[in-house]
Amino acid sequence: MIDYLIIGSGLAGISFSEMALQNNKSILVADNNSQNSSKIAGGLYNPVILKRFSEVWQAQEQLVVMNEFFAVLEKKLNCKVDFKLPILRKFFSIEEQNNWFAASDKINLAPFLSTHLISKRYPGINSPFGYGEVLQTGYVNTALLLDKYKEYLIKNELYLEESFDYNALLEERDGIRYKNIQAKHIIFAEGFGMHANPYFNHLPLDGTKGELLIIKAPQLDLDVIVNTSVFILPLGNDLFKVGATYNWKDKTDLPTEEGKAELVERIKEVISCDFEIVSHFAGVRPTVKDRKPLIGTHPNHNAIHILNGLGTRGVMLGPAMAKALFEYIEYKKPLDKEIDIKRFLSKGEK
Ligand SMILES: Cc1cc2nc3c(=O)[nH]c(=O)nc-3n(C[C@H](O)[C@H](O)[C@H](O)COP(=O)(O)OP(=O)(O)OC[C@H]3O[C@@H](n4cnc5c(N)ncnc54)[C@H](O)[C@@H]3O)c2cc1C
Repeated sequence: MIDYLIIGSGLAGISFSEMALQNNKSILVADNNSQNSSKIAGGLYNPVILKRFSEVWQAQEQLVVMNEFFAVLEKKLNCKVDFKLPILRKFFSIEEQNNWFAASDKINLAPFLSTHLISKRYPGINSPFGYGEVLQTGYVNTALLLDKYKEYLIKNELYLEESFDYNALLEERDGIRYKNIQAKHIIFAEGFGMHANPYFNHLPLDGTKGELLIIKAPQLDLDVIVNTSVFILPLGNDLFKVGATYNWKDKTDLPTEEGKAELVERIKEVISCDFEIVSHFAGVRPTVKDRKPLIGTHPNHNAIHILNGLGTRGVMLGPAMAKALFEYIEYKKPLDKEIDIKRFLSKGEK
């Protein structure tokens, strides 16, 4: 009998696995490599929605959990995955500068928006109006994190490479049985793959496809992330990750010519030097109608739980949501109404 069987080893599954292990629980993780959202993500964390100048929901609380989570994980995996790097918003006019300084005066945004105008000239970018700096930002190398974590799970015999067979899941008096595995709880963290899950596929997980590029631009020299309508993230060796697009119709993870053309157009708005495209990726973000995560326990099955709906912010949300679900299951700490899947039950079901 183990404590947790976890389906999915993207940012959601990893976050829960680690939360459980750090609390001395036993786990087993299954994954079938069917989704790649976490693998290809930009990995940025940014507490401010720059388009609207609003604070990300519970940003400061999430950052606290996230910072500790990745610090512990880096030690355990013996590799660096969390890179603290400023995000600079390029200004295109005096009006944009003014909007920035007005926003930085707001009490909830003040900890995140610097009041210094950055006028440094970065080779390869023409920015006469300068930049504003977002504080407490950076990125996680998600591909490396996922690889290293999988390696760790395999080494400790905690990983099962398989497609979860929902028909083989049985409820028992004190937990669940899946084939020859008995667990006190099962956590579904399948990302957009949730649509195949008969226990939770009634939940409104829309899915938003995103595409990004790796470009090579030898004349571009950045030691920060630049963000406008796209982000430009320096990877070293003249390589930069650039993204991302938002497509609510196409639910495949195939890169498209339209996506590429859109990104190229936006890159040209930001940088003024030559570049070539080195690679092109796409994935489907697990986004929810109301843009809040899907966390909780199945209304009719006490041992069956979900951790999903991390949407566009898996890096910041993953650790905090895993903690919330873990404490809900283990200590009955109530879930915030905004993330609890109960919000989608009909009145009669509640
Ligand atoms: C282009 C793009 C850019 C992004 N940029 C950022 C960013 O900069 N910052 C940020 O925070 N977020 C970003 N995101 C969003 C982020 O990637 C997601 O929030 C996050 O990946 C969701 O993680 P997840 O674990 O829920 O889902 P996934 O990463 O999809 O993981 C689900 C896992 O479950 C497995 N699985 C599914 N079904 C089954 C099954 N039946 N049996 C076994 N295994 C199964 C899949 O193989 C997969 O490994 C981006 C996303 C995209 C697409």
